[in-house]
Parts: sequence; structure tokens; C-alpha cells
Amino acid sequence: MNTPSSEAGALSRQASLQRLKQTAHFDLLVVGGGATGLGVALDAATRGLSVALVEREDFAKGTSSRATKLVHGGVRYLAQGNVGLVREALRERKAALQNAPHLVQPLPFLMPAFGLKGRLWDKLFYGTGLMLYDLLAGKAGLGDTQFLSRSETLAALPGVRAEDLVGAVQYWDGQFDDARLAVMLARTAAAHGAVVLNHCPVRALLHADGKVIGASVADMESGELIDVHAGCVVNAAGVWVDDLRRMDVDPESRMVSPSQGIHLVVDREFLPGDHALLVPKTDDGRVMFAVPWLGKVLLGTTDTPRDSIESEPTPLADEVDFILGEAGKYLARAPSASDVRSIWGGVRPLVRPPDAANTKDISREHVVVVDESGLVTVTGGKWTTYRAMAEDVVEHCMEAGLLESGEPSGTLDLKLIGAPDTVSHKISDPPGAHLYGTEAALLDQLPGHRHELGMGLTEAMVRFAVRYEAARTVEDVLARRSRILFLDAQLAAALADEVAAIIADELNREGEDVAGFKALARRYRTVPG
Ligand SMILES: Cc1cc2nc3c(=O)[nH]c(=O)nc-3n(C[C@H](O)[C@H](O)[C@H](O)COP(=O)(O)OP(=O)(O)OC[C@H]3O[C@@H](n4cnc5c(N)ncnc54)[C@H](O)[C@@H]3O)c2cc1C
Repeated sequence: MNTPSSEAGALSRQASLQRLKQTAHFDLLVVGGGATGLGVALDAATRGLSVALVEREDFAKGTSSRATKLVHGGVRYLAQGNVGLVREALRERKAALQNAPHLVQPLPFLMPAFGLKGRLWDKLFYGTGLMLYDLLAGKAGLGDTQFLSRSETLAALPGVRAEDLVGAVQYWDGQFDDARLAVMLARTAAAHGAVVLNHCPVRALLHADGKVIGASVADMESGELIDVHAGCVVNAAGVWVDDLRRMDVDPESRMVSPSQGIHLVVDREFLPGDHALLVPKTDDGRVMFAVPWLGKVLLGTTDTPRDSIESEPTPLADEVDFILGEAGKYLARAPSASDVRSIWGGVRPLVRPPDAANTKDISREHVVVVDESGLVTVTGGKWTTYRAMAEDVVEHCMEAGLLESGEPSGTLDLKLIGAPDTVSHKISDPPGAHLYGTEAALLDQLPGHRHELGMGLTEAMVRFAVRYEAARTVEDVLARRSRILFLDAQLAAALADEVAAIIADELNREGEDVAGFKALARRYRTVPG
């Protein structure tokens, strides 16, 4: 399939609302605009089906903007013996790298070894495991696993602690900008004919004769309720799938076992260079990453079971202590709470098994459930495998007779909007026009393309976010079209007024009251302790 044009994939709210109201019946209605829902919408649209997707807040506002940003086969799952999951993820990693090279790229990871025990253990255990990882990747491999000497390790990972260091195992995986990839999925789906709307929650499911026939959705800008009818409704609401299932036939639904993970963002000085650091087993058996990303370093993450699921999860003091404590053991300069530029959490939608002792033991695979009412729910999985999950969901819908079997999925080699043939930047570089791929040229045609607001964000990018990328609020722009809130919350707060004024000018309406956004930015820079 050809890469769709920027214009075809420009998300116009007015036009989308019009189509949502005027279309008497869609083949498919998808609820939730995270990786899972957007993947399903795109898959179905490429099969020629008529598709609508509604997201209650913004694309990737949920878990899908809060990942560790790794497109990975999951070395950890290999250690658990889950070869099938690893093989699938490695295939999907290859597809993502090919289909959106401006947003998904290879990244070398180093596992440093300390002392004689470390050298032997790491070479034997992790080195061998990673060679198996390379073997499973086959042609989809990104580079061979290598053992680096002490001096090679220090050269590649200048921020690592030198004391007792004996070397490292290096392997390859991928990294990405999760929220921007989500927006590109939304736009590519729109370019294939899907109606894709953010700020549009499902308020109720519509039923006839015990079957789900659509949903009542709210346009959050006008308050208007719109009934959307569809032959098949897919619940892709991430950690909130149970809320939707409770609107349907199961008031007690408890499919998801929420598990929170947080990240701390610090300056690149703590880990200069272009390699990530992985600690595969911390003292208490967890995994810790330090990942160079968009000019900063992400430190994470945790796996904390939670009962309540907030749209802005609250990092806990214990989680911060764990990350800062572990980072301090492996980095030459230990970061402290005052070094944190931004702190944010996300909640994994793990599928609740009948008897797992803790969330680390719960499968990261996805499940698809077709209820008697015809409501199709998908949850679990991970960002890396969104495409394969989507294919599986649509096939389940077809097998259940909810969607007509038609064309096969066209997403395996479908280039997303903006995908260039070659790239000359790294995702670990500070943000800039390079993240727009082939669309960078469009930015030059917009007012303010030389007016930089901060951290690579120009006035033209804000205008582009509104005209093409469905951004409606300051948060949409500063958290997900640009990632400044996630990188430097104080800077994000400082830019809020100017961004609000540009959005107001684009939309020809009153400027947004930015007090709410500034309060949010305060949360992102407040480290509990
Ligand atoms: C800390 C952490 C680190 C991770 N790191 C990685 C990683 O490095 N690599 C990787 O591959 N995976 C990673 N994951 C997993 C990955 O991020 C998730 O599996 C994925 O983002 C889930 O996407 P989703 O679309 O199912 O859920 P979400 O992104 O949460 O999307 C669901 C959407 O549904 C919307 N919604 C809810 N109710 C309604 C309603 N009534 N009407 C309309 N919309 C509604 C929500 O607003 C939300 O946007 C990580 C997860 C966490 C928590």
C-alpha cells in the first residue's frame, strides 16, 4: 500500500463530527484511542471496512504515552520461556522500524558487569540468552550481541559507574516516541477512510434485542450527544475496559489487573552517549532501564499493583526510592530528587488470571473476549505488538460474524504518514522537525516556522498540531504532539500561555484557561518522598 498524503490524513474535528452524525451505520466502532484501539481502526480501515474510533480524552492520553519507549522483543519473556511471545514481538519490531522510521529506531543496550562474579554470570547467562534472542530474530535482527571490554563499555556508556566495572553485554532493540506514533496511526487510519475523534467519550452502549448496536458518545466541545450505530463494537479502553463492560452485560467485570509503572526524567549528563543501560536483575529481582530519549534520560520503571485507575496516575515515594536507589548504584553520578525534570506514571492493562501471586508473574499477552451481547473486548499486550493484536481482534470479529470477512489486513508493510525512506537523526536526539519525517517540509510553510518557543518546539509545530494532528488543548500539544511535559515539566508550564494563544488563533476562539495545565505540570515536577 502507498503512503497516504498529509492532506488525506489531516484530522479535522468539524469534518469528523459531521461524518459521525451523518453515517447511519458503521461496520466497526472502536472505543479507545490508545495503541490498541488505533491499531484496530487502522487494520479494519485497510480492509475497506467503514470505521469510527472515539477517544474520551486525547490519543495516547492513557497508557500509550507512558511507556518506557521500547519497541522490544522482550528479553525478559525469553527468560520466562515464552518463545512465542518473543518471536511475535521481534517480527513486530521489524515492521514498526520499517513503517515509521522517523519515530521508531534501533537502540543499543548495555548490561554492565561488575566484579569477577558479574563477568562470569553475565557472560554465561545473559550473553547466551541474548544470542538466542538474535537467533530468534533471524533476518529481523538489528545487530549481534557482543561482549564489550571495560574500556569499550566506558566509551559507549560514559555515565556508567567505573568502579569494579569489568565489561558489558551489548544487544539491540528499538525505541520510539509513543504518543507521536499514536497520532500517526490515527492519521493513517483517517487517510484510509476512518472517522477518528478525540475528546469524545462513550457515555453509554446502545442495545437492541440484547445485542450491542453502537454507543452514545459526547462531543466534549459542544456537549452534544451523538448516537453512533455499528455492526461491531470493539472495547479497546485499556485499563478502563471493565468500565465499558460494566455498561454492558457484566456489572462485576474484572478483566484487568492494573499495574503501575513510573519514570523519572533527568538530564543527559547523567548518561551521555547513545546507548541505553539495562540492569536485568536488581537486588530485589526487578528490571531497571536508563534510556536516552529526546535529549534526556528516562529512568524506570516499576511494577506496582494498583486498585484505582486514574487518568493521571500518582507516583509513589517507594517507586521513586527504588529508581533513584538503583540508578545511583549503576551511574557514575547518582541522580537525586532535585535532578528530576519530570515524573510520570502509567498503568499496564494486565489481564487478570485466576491465581497469579503478583503482577510480575502475569502474562503480557493480550486477550480478546466476545461477549454474548457481541461486545468485543481486547486488553493486555504491549505497544510493540499493537499491529499483530489489531489483526487478531479484527479476525475475531469476523469469526464471530460481527464483521464481514473481506480483504486481508494491509498493515504489515503499510508506511505511516510521514515515513521517510532514510533518516539522519536518532530518537535519542533532542526533539525537532526531524520527528515529522517527510512532513517536516510542511512546517516550513506555516507561520512561525523560525519562531522557537523552547526545546525544539516552534510556533509552526503548534499550528501544525492543530491543523493536522487534532490537538485541541495546551496539554494535547505540550504532552503528546511535543513531549515537553514528559521531558521538562517546568519548561512546559512556562510555555503554556504562548501555546494557548497560538491554539486560540488557529481555532479562532477564546484562549484556554491554562491554570489546569499548570497544575498538571506541577504534578509532573513534584517528586514524592
Ligand atoms: C510503565 C509502563 C511502561 C511500558 N513500557 C512499554 C514499552 O517500553 N514497550 C512496549 O511495547 N509496551 C510498554 N508498555 C505497555 C504499553 O504501553 C501498553 O500495553 C499500551 O500502551 C496499552 O494501550 P491501550 O490502547 O490498550 O491502552 P491505553 O493507551 O490506555 O488506551 C485506552 C484509551 O481508552 C480511552 N477510554 C477509556 N474509556 C473510554 C470511553 N468511555 N470512551 C472513549 N475512550 C475511552 C482512554 O482515554 C485511553 O486513551 C508499558 C506500560 C507501562 C504502564
